[in-house]
Amino acid sequence: MKVTRREFLKLTAAASGSLLIPASSAKAATEWPVFPLHKKVKEAATICPYCSCGCGLIIATGPDGHIINAEGDPDNPHNRGALDPKSISVRQLSQNPLRLKKPLYRAPGSDKFVEVEWDWAITEIAKRIKATRDATFERTVTVGDKTVTVNRTRAIAFLGGAANNSEECYLAVKLARALGLVYIEHQARI
Ligand code: SF4
Repeated sequence: MKVTRREFLKLTAAASGSLLIPASSAKAATEWPVFPLHKKVKEAATICPYCSCGCGLIIATGPDGHIINAEGDPDNPHNRGALDPKSISVRQLSQNPLRLKKPLYRAPGSDKFVEVEWDWAITEIAKRIKATRDATFERTVTVGDKTVTVNRTRAIAFLGGAANNSEECYLAVKLARALGLVYIEHQARI
């Protein structure tokens, strides 16, 4: 039987109500009222960022945009509402004071990282990708007496991570393939 999240909550509320009130009031239990919220919260369905299982989360955020609650998404076929301790602590991702908010750069030959601006880092990455690709791009490869079109560079690799969601992965792989990368890997397989 397929039970949606809303139906699951209704059934849970009805079951809890049956335990607390006399049997004669069973009808009232099936009409258990919605609990009034004391804080304004906004719920959103998302994906746990911690490993490649991709469990579904329902995240509640407070008025300041920070996560105030995380639960398993019962409608998600990966986990059907179950979660492990890592994902329940996902709120620390948005509230941890140690969270990095700017890129760190270690110059060639240097032994330390320094904080840099996003604009500088993105421009620098783009410049280096272009220079490397231009210098190493292979249009064809000849093996024996046969020449085949490859349109590739073997000088750049792309590594994805479990924290990337499906949409980010789709875009990243599109870009990697368009650049002619052949070494495309994911942290979950390593
Ligand atoms: S809830 Fe646990 S198993 Fe599921 S994606 Fe997150 S870390 Fe992985």
